[in-house]
Amino acid sequence: RSSKTCCNQFGRQCWIMLNIKNLEATIDNKHILRGLNLDIMPGEVHAIMGPNGSGKSTLANVLSGKNGYEIKGDISYNGKSLNELSTEERAQKGIFLAFQYPLEIPGVNTNIFLKTSLNAIRKAKGEKELDTLTFLKLIKEKALELGIDEKFLSRQLNVGFSGGEKKKNEILQMKLLQPKLSILDETDSGLDIDALRIVADGVNSYKNKDNAFLIITHYQRLLDYIKPDFIHVLSKGKIVKTGNAELGIELEKTGYSNLA
Ligand code: ADP
Ligand code: MG
Repeated sequence: RSSKTCCNQFGRQCWIMLNIKNLEATIDNKHILRGLNLDIMPGEVHAIMGPNGSGKSTLANVLSGKNGYEIKGDISYNGKSLNELSTEERAQKGIFLAFQYPLEIPGVNTNIFLKTSLNAIRKAKGEKELDTLTFLKLIKEKALELGIDEKFLSRQLNVGFSGGEKKKNEILQMKLLQPKLSILDETDSGLDIDALRIVADGVNSYKNKDNAFLIITHYQRLLDYIKPDFIHVLSKGKIVKTGNAELGIELEKTGYSNLA
């Protein structure tokens, strides 16, 4: 798909939101991503599947701007190179990463963390920062939608949260910050079926024609609830196969072994 013919599934003329060309990433002498190409248009949901160790989390980290990787190739976002931008600058431009292993941050109250994150993004966009009362009203509404008990919001960030609670908290953050490109790294792991449904509903209700998702998952299960437009199989740092939602079902039967 070239930029001239760029059109998403809504048939709308659009731009390439994320354009990854020949991406290579190395850390601690380990060459992980080895020539990865991927285009994402607004409104699309892309899933990345692949065996353990294929580089899925590395891709998410590199996109979010995590330090320490030696990068080759180019990542452009809305037509501008991301290569030189910090994690904060990327977040301000609407890139959001939900971690595979959300960090526990003792001493940091969840509400205050969320308010600070939201206001930093609002400020960067030239919007007015929210005062505490307005923020609390907003966060309570969003928490209710995700079935998160208000009490969690006054606890220390992720400290003592169960796996499922941490993941729901990441989705709460996403719905609050309203990113344009949401990268979810194994948001389904550790979730029971009810929590999985809540997370999927959270994604589905946030999805619209202007935002996009990159959903990293090890299993087909999440994709029963969030229907991807494309599924890519990552193997040894490269995309080795791309297909539609059917591919996930096929992979569940055959596994990855005959793809690499
Ligand atoms: P996935 O998320 O697909 O399971 P990762 O991206 O986490 O895979 O890791 C890909 C490979 O790179 C693995 O073999 C992993 O051990 C290795 N790796 C990841 N981070 C580092 C690091 N900081 N130093 C050395 N090796 C790493
Ligand atoms: Mg991973």
